[in-house]
Amino acid sequence: MRRGYKKRVKDLALQRARLLYLNAVSEVREGEIDRGRDHVKLALRLLEKANAKKPPYLRRWVCKNCYAPLIPGLTVTVRVKGDRKYVIIAKKCLLCGWVSRVRCVRRR
Ligand SMILES: [Zn+2]
Repeated sequence: MRRGYKKRVKDLALQRARLLYLNAVSEVREGEIDRGRDHVKLALRLLEKANAKKPPYLRRWVCKNCYAPLIPGLTVTVRVKGDRKYVIIAKKCLLCGWVSRVRCVRRR
């Protein structure tokens, strides 16, 4: 295998995944939710094939249940619940009702 080949494939996959995600967002904004889902699924599959790590936007802003891109105010509601030490960020997908909760340390 050529030197740096895997790295290049990873880089290309990441670039394409980014474009696919941006496309997915604009499709959902236009009301084509299923097409948006398809774009996201394709991006995830590409990254899996290239053995690349998922970028933050695909980890955080995609519904884990129905693969729709999450856009605040359109396909997701974001709630922040306070605690003394931690805050819990709850994101509810408006398409399937899936709620994902992330606990964060409160910053001063
Ligand atoms: Zn969903």
